[in-house]
Amino acid sequence: MTTRDTRLQAVAEFWFGPPPGGHRWVDAPRREGEDATSRWLVRRGRDTAGWMVNELELGQKELSELFLEFAQLEMTEEAILGFANCYGQIGVDAWIPEQGDGRAGERLSAWCSEIMAMRAAVDLSRAINERELSLLRSWIKFLPDGSLVFDRSHEGGWRSAWTIRRGHSPVAVFIDQKKWSRAGRLLLHEMANKRLAGRTRAGIVYEPRKDKLGFRIVVESLLAGMWMQLANCIALNRIGRCPVCGKLLVLTPGVSRSDRKTCSGACRSKLSRDSRAKKGEGLD
Ligand SMILES: [Zn+2]
Repeated sequence: MTTRDTRLQAVAEFWFGPPPGGHRWVDAPRREGEDATSRWLVRRGRDTAGWMVNELELGQKELSELFLEFAQLEMTEEAILGFANCYGQIGVDAWIPEQGDGRAGERLSAWCSEIMAMRAAVDLSRAINERELSLLRSWIKFLPDGSLVFDRSHEGGWRSAWTIRRGHSPVAVFIDQKKWSRAGRLLLHEMANKRLAGRTRAGIVYEPRKDKLGFRIVVESLLAGMWMQLANCIALNRIGRCPVCGKLLVLTPGVSRSDRKTCSGACRSKLSRDSRAKKGEGLD
């Protein structure tokens, strides 16, 4: 673990966790402009006080790689429910127009668009790190007016799109035709900052159990916490893949090529078998 990592974790701690009864999906009445009833993820039971206690009992967890799990989450009710029952709601939407008990909930479509956004940023960062020019070319467009567009389609008809317009973003002046990696970095700058804005803030917190003050980046939601970890990994070029099976992972900095991180013990031993075999070949 690098010094930079340690510092980030020391400064930005936050609490999260599922309610004791877990969650369930409910239908909410159709809203104006929507052509179907929307599906909402709500907590089971209404005892929010009980949930707060539970949240504190769960304590602080390190979220260093949770964003990867979220970015790869299937956009199904079942997969999302499973994630929410492990880690809690992510902090999108708020009140459902529902049956009078003022229940807090999160819309299925909001979860899906947040999954897409994180997946797009993770994949874009990885493509830059691994110099996958063909992928960058397929997602990024330079418009004649000097703007930069990211446009990617996902399964199920979902799309992630971002635009950096001249005059609207301080980084727009750095847009340079044909510089694909730089364009990708500028887009990541926009994606991450947009997701972090208003959801994180620096401040002094009072720690009642220690009767002390602490300086923290206060994280407003699980989603903001995951974006913070992702932003840190993006800035440190840490998003890569298992060299054996290709699974996404957070790379450990400063390791040699033969000593690269793998996703599992099985891939680890396959990698060392393969490199031993290679060495053997070299000796002949
Ligand atoms: Zn692997």
